[in-house]
Amino acid sequence: MSGQDLLTNAAVNKSTAFTTEERERLGLRGLLPPHVSTQDEQLDRVLENLRRKSDDIEKYVFLTALQDRNERLFYRAVMENISEVMPLIYTPTVGQACREFAHIFRRPRGFYITPDDRGDIRRILDNWSEGDVRVVVVTDGERILGLGDLGANGMGIPIGKLALYVACAGIHPKQCLPVMLDVGTGNASLRADPLYLGVPKPRLEGDDYITLVDEFVAAIQDKYPKALIQFEDFLTPNAYTLLNRFRDHVLCFNDDIQGTAAVTLAGIMASTRISGVPFKDLRIMFLGAGSAATGIADLTAAALQVEGLSESTARQRLWFVDIDGLVTSRRQTIAAHSKPYAHDHEPMGFLDAISHVKPHILIGATGAPGLFNEAVVRCMSELNERPGIFALSNPTSRAECTAQHAYTWSDGRAIFVSGSPFAPVEFNGRTFTPGQGNNAYIFPGIGLGAITADAKMIPEELFLVAARSLSEQVSEADLAAGSLFPPLDDILKVSWKIAADVALKAKELGLSQASLPDDIHAKIRQHSYSPVY
Ligand code: NAD
Repeated sequence: MSGQDLLTNAAVNKSTAFTTEERERLGLRGLLPPHVSTQDEQLDRVLENLRRKSDDIEKYVFLTALQDRNERLFYRAVMENISEVMPLIYTPTVGQACREFAHIFRRPRGFYITPDDRGDIRRILDNWSEGDVRVVVVTDGERILGLGDLGANGMGIPIGKLALYVACAGIHPKQCLPVMLDVGTGNASLRADPLYLGVPKPRLEGDDYITLVDEFVAAIQDKYPKALIQFEDFLTPNAYTLLNRFRDHVLCFNDDIQGTAAVTLAGIMASTRISGVPFKDLRIMFLGAGSAATGIADLTAAALQVEGLSESTARQRLWFVDIDGLVTSRRQTIAAHSKPYAHDHEPMGFLDAISHVKPHILIGATGAPGLFNEAVVRCMSELNERPGIFALSNPTSRAECTAQHAYTWSDGRAIFVSGSPFAPVEFNGRTFTPGQGNNAYIFPGIGLGAITADAKMIPEELFLVAARSLSEQVSEADLAAGSLFPPLDDILKVSWKIAADVALKAKELGLSQASLPDDIHAKIRQHSYSPVY
């Protein structure tokens, strides 16, 4: 590659950092301003421009344009400023970016599959020129964060998640494939939007939908047999249907169910180091009984069983409340995934249920803001010296309560976790740095571990290992500052450690198809993507 082709290929473009010798050799003389920049200078320019923009969506558009222009500079900007940039390329900004996707669209990224591609998916997949894809993130856009059905606009999610695979785990960008399974949208206002870029029809459902997903999975397995498929932001019933359909024979997982579960379990485990309540004695109440809450409950029940509890005792410790109140076995209809946690109990509202069950930790995963109100947090604070208040709903505007409210209403005693980032809070002369139960602490490490081991599948044991690995990397200083997670700035090292632990466990379970060295961690570190020229 030479000349203008080099300058328009984001993977190799160095722009003003091409040296004098390279400019001569590669036919670039005259195509660049004379000053030869260092990458550090370019990074300064990027950050100066980024910080000049006051609007987060403008920052998102700017960063996307940089990714399209100079991939290594983009990833240096992300990796060296992860706390600042992650909220711009992922939640919460990505939520708004998805809402506006069709209106801020500049150029395509990723792969689109529609019902018209039925029978052709394997053939058209050859249009994707990269030969060694290892991670595929796919959505059908029906439940984007807490924002509902955004149809093809949901493509922002696989793109953002894969940028985090690169930035947080060091997987090479060319090994990443974002996929939008565009089966239409139930969102009538999107269908009526003349600028909408997706299929402007109602959603494909039933067998037609399932067989299209089957064909997609088979096509990926045929072209990229070592690739991991991450399902992302599917509506809860479909999320479970697809996970149960593929989990036992395809290298795949659902991040909303299993990634959320592992990161939250890590937070639960770390919280016991503050509260002093032994993990095996915990009672936990979930507000919201969707895929996120159920996934957390299932993995927590598995972790309690490792501690010696029976399956039924473990489940007795976990309680669900949804929009209709406490989920009990006396209800007429109960979703299959909620049944194990529907205890034989009289029906009651949320606040009464807290008083009756006396949970140590409340976990909100409703997508509905403000449900952890003053009465709720005060009630938890009366029951517990250090109440666990996990407000997981995304984006920030949907959190069940703010960090400020959690600390204020609990007189600074809450062990607070959020789904989207909150700024540090000053309360009674103390500064609290709330931890973000960000799936980015888990999915890049799990994914990297699975592909390092060339695992056949990802059973629950690997998520348990990942959760434990993450919680063990939380320092006393993190806990003292109010965070149940390591600093985001350390995320690359955290993911490497999780990946090494996951790969080792895959080997122990006989699921690894790779020959792993004794020092898996060193191998992972050596192969990690570097954005430095
Ligand atoms: P979902 O739609 O499957 O489930 C939502 C649940 O909340 C349902 O059971 C519903 O009945 C319940 N609910 C809604 N309004 C309620 C109300 N007013 N009172 C009580 N219950 C109510 O969605 P999901 O996939 O489970 O995700 C839920 C939320 O969790 C989303 O906002 C998502 O952003 C968030 N989430 C956070 C993380 C994270 O922080 N790491 C990861 C995944 C999902």
